[in-house]
Amino acid sequence: PADPNANFKQGWLRGVYNEKPVKDVHTRFPPEPNGYLHIGHAKAITVNFGFAKAYGGKCNLRFDDTNPAKEEERYFTSIKEMVSWLGFSPAKITYSSDNFDELYRLAEELIKKDKAYVCHCTAEEVNKGRGGAEHGPRSVCKHWSRPTEESLEEFRAMRDGKYEAGEAVLRMKQYLGTKPEEYAIAEEDSAEVKKSKKELKTLAENPAMWDVSAYRIKKENYHHRTGDKWRIYPTYEFTHCLCDSFEGITHSLCTVEFETLRPAYNWLLEALDHKIPGSEEKGPMQREYGRLNVEGTILSKRRIQMLVEGATIGSKAATDDAEELADAVDEVKLAEAGDDNPVENAAAAKTTGGTGRTIPPVVRDWDDPRLFTLVAIRRRGVPPGALKKFVLDLGVTKAGADTKLHILDASIRTYLERTVPRLLLVLDPIKVIIDNVPDDFVEELEVPFDPKDAAKGTHKIPFTKTIYIDRDDFREVDNPDFFRLAPGKSVGLLYVPHPLFCESFTKGPDGRVAEIRAKYGEDQPAGKARIHWVGESAAHKTPVRAEARIFNPLFKNPRPNELDWKNGGYYDNINPESEIVYPNAMIESGFHEIKQKAPWPKEEGEAEGTTGNYSVRFQGLRTAFFCLDKEATDDKIILNRIVSLKEDTGK
Ligand code: ATP
Ligand code: MG
Ligand code: MG
Repeated sequence: PADPNANFKQGWLRGVYNEKPVKDVHTRFPPEPNGYLHIGHAKAITVNFGFAKAYGGKCNLRFDDTNPAKEEERYFTSIKEMVSWLGFSPAKITYSSDNFDELYRLAEELIKKDKAYVCHCTAEEVNKGRGGAEHGPRSVCKHWSRPTEESLEEFRAMRDGKYEAGEAVLRMKQYLGTKPEEYAIAEEDSAEVKKSKKELKTLAENPAMWDVSAYRIKKENYHHRTGDKWRIYPTYEFTHCLCDSFEGITHSLCTVEFETLRPAYNWLLEALDHKIPGSEEKGPMQREYGRLNVEGTILSKRRIQMLVEGATIGSKAATDDAEELADAVDEVKLAEAGDDNPVENAAAAKTTGGTGRTIPPVVRDWDDPRLFTLVAIRRRGVPPGALKKFVLDLGVTKAGADTKLHILDASIRTYLERTVPRLLLVLDPIKVIIDNVPDDFVEELEVPFDPKDAAKGTHKIPFTKTIYIDRDDFREVDNPDFFRLAPGKSVGLLYVPHPLFCESFTKGPDGRVAEIRAKYGEDQPAGKARIHWVGESAAHKTPVRAEARIFNPLFKNPRPNELDWKNGGYYDNINPESEIVYPNAMIESGFHEIKQKAPWPKEEGEAEGTTGNYSVRFQGLRTAFFCLDKEATDDKIILNRIVSLKEDTGK
């Protein structure tokens, strides 16, 4: 059998291991608990947990909870749930905030080593000091050279409430003070000197090394775990590497936007003796893999929030964003190349006009099956194994994995084809009465749950006088190219031995076909195709009535991120067919059995029994793959289409 860890034992991931081939591999998945996880995070989770597993190590779930204003309990709960849904169990659940005391102590230590200083410049002044076309050469501010005792005093004053947010920050003394002269290469320099100057140049010219913030004062500073103990909070740049070190992380795997931050990561660890310069022997080693991007998905928290809650185009968001901008500049958030780039968001919001246009919600919640949050993907019915397989099949390397939606669908489809049981389901039923059989006619047919997998066994379905077929499989007017049911034509029924012949039909008051009269038997003319159907028998508790929801892309534009989000243009692009509801769908009696057996087959992680409806999945023969919606009950069955059977069937 194939090694389940094969993906981790080769290629880029193998290389990362080989750079630090320790026995006790320890990784972490470090989400900020400021939103629901999305499909991109499935990669981060799979990579971190999978890597540890493949090398016999362990992986922590770390809540990177250093931004009090944005954290909410529901995100913690949901993140934990999603990790376990994907089949992973953290060795430990940790919180960056558990280290606030130690982090504070280390910040003071850094000041004492003259490697950090309290700065009172405005965001604009800080930006100016960092140089650039507008500002000229880089320069340090007057606070850079203040005595360490003074910085220490001011840092404590920051902690004790002397300053308001924005009036003081603790900055790391990295390479902002390095002058170009110091690394200008002279002809007479030895090869060794040239090399070290080159290295210095790289460091000095990296914006992540321009004395970025370590601590800042937060206006909204009530923290869910530490309460009102702190007014100052450590930045990502100060927190992440140290928490990695505290937890004994060996391989700190993150996405490529963090590559330019790697020198800063190492700088701080080295400054505090948590790492040996130029060596990976002690302390954590950061390595970066490419982000997962699926075209056509909206992943930005802000945008999903607009879809979930509706939006008023105008002032409030703009104010929020302005605050975020200050923060963003302050922290030199170079890393946020992702969808929630605060600098970009804020810049965009600044230009937002206050039109006051009110836009209603577009989706039912954060787990609406048309979204690509992990809760939405689970609700739609995608098995966790399919998602992991998708991530690994794309490959884990430094290169970004940019893929199209239909690739994701194809991958899910392939997975489901091999795993889930098959049932007969009619989306939009038309009643068919078979005239040439007695009223109490019932033929029990023994049919397989999966014709390609005998191990799944069989179940019995009733073939009866009244059956239901799909409206799509009937034409009022026959056509030689049409191989299914039409007046004067026969069709085969799946699993049923003989053909069904249509004699006539009647229409209802709505002008739609209401009832078909037919004949059945070996004496009927043969049909050219076989269609799905559902019988009617109280004894077999069939048909099972259901509402079936078919999902299509939420936007007409295949690249919805390019729509005009700030002025509401996105709303005008909503696909009116993004959700098509079939209120009268019918399922055969086997549904009762698969519901009872679910999760069947069992997915890794689904054993805990926390999955409920999410794991009741099946293939409706000739229709689509379906999953029971989380809101379905025994009295009201609701089905979500996980994915179509073929690309673009429109069903
Ligand atoms: P977003 O801004 O897209 O909501 P984030 O980067 O703020 O996501 P975090 O909670 O900070 O989310 O991320 C946790 C981990 O998941 C980080 O290591 C991050 O690099 C990783 N991650 C986030 N998005 C992706 C993605 N699209 N592909 C792969 N990994 C990702
Ligand atoms: Mg983030
Ligand atoms: Mg991000």
